Amino acid sequence: MAGRASPAGEGNVPEAGEGHGADLTVSILLSGTPTPTPTRWGTSILVRSRTAAVLVDAGPGATRRLVEAGLDPTEVDAVVFSHHHFDHTAGFPGFFLSRWDQGAGLVDELSIYGPPPTSAFVEKLFGVGSGAFWPDLNARMRAPVSQAVYVNRGGELPRHPPDPQVREIQPGNRFMIGDIEFLPGLARHVQPYLDCNAYRISAGSSSVVYTGDTEPCDEVVELSRDADVLVSMCWDEERVMAGNGEAPGQTGTLGAARMASSADVGALVLTHLGPSISAGIGEGELEAMASLYPGAIHQAVEGWTFSVFPGSAEDRAG
Ligand SMILES: [Zn+2]
Repeated sequence: MAGRASPAGEGNVPEAGEGHGADLTVSILLSGTPTPTPTRWGTSILVRSRTAAVLVDAGPGATRRLVEAGLDPTEVDAVVFSHHHFDHTAGFPGFFLSRWDQGAGLVDELSIYGPPPTSAFVEKLFGVGSGAFWPDLNARMRAPVSQAVYVNRGGELPRHPPDPQVREIQPGNRFMIGDIEFLPGLARHVQPYLDCNAYRISAGSSSVVYTGDTEPCDEVVELSRDADVLVSMCWDEERVMAGNGEAPGQTGTLGAARMASSADVGALVLTHLGPSISAGIGEGELEAMASLYPGAIHQAVEGWTFSVFPGSAEDRAG
């Protein structure tokens, strides 16, 4: 069923489980690309249901944005990666270490999902005795001052290293995080160098599709069929991409609108906005998009949280 993304204003930020009415909320934590701009760098969204919170991708600075969105790292149940480009992963080590440190042994181990090489990525960062961050972990477990901080946070000695639950997934490998269902689909990006997944994310009567990085393709359209909201990457204006060789493996303005139209989604949210459109998509281009897709089109703003409501875009446009 189609629906809408409704902007949440000051004092109206939907909190999962607090009667906001929607089965899913999405927070735009990061909305950029590898190119840092004053307003965007890297990509990350936070998906919340009444019982679960999931970080989908973790670009640089994701943890700070997460806290700004009102959630402590210890309140996040899982991380799901679309692919292993750094604009989607460079904030992960900080998030992971912060969650382990602040959790003081009192929270569940983090669940981590993603395409290969997710397992090797996590092992190389945090492997016991060998990971890049092992000297930090080891010092925090053994130094008396660090043990005091840990105990003061409620931890019980001895302190143990993190033991994340990592699962590599392929398109079609459905999985659950609490009451949120994730259905991975093929995203056509930079194969064969990196695998990339899009995700259809559902809870109750709400469904949102996150494209990750992809060029417009039938697989993502099928995955998005009748979803309430499509959160799509948007690299640049289509005609610019067609002229500079940057179209393969990437979605631009018109491509996003065509996918939203073909899949008949309730609303389109553009994220992963490239440097040329970081400050906003031009009026003419927005009109061209609107001629292809009649539903609501939103350009992501970092810090924006929206509820995913079932229903038609026409009924609830705004
Ligand atoms: Zn990418």
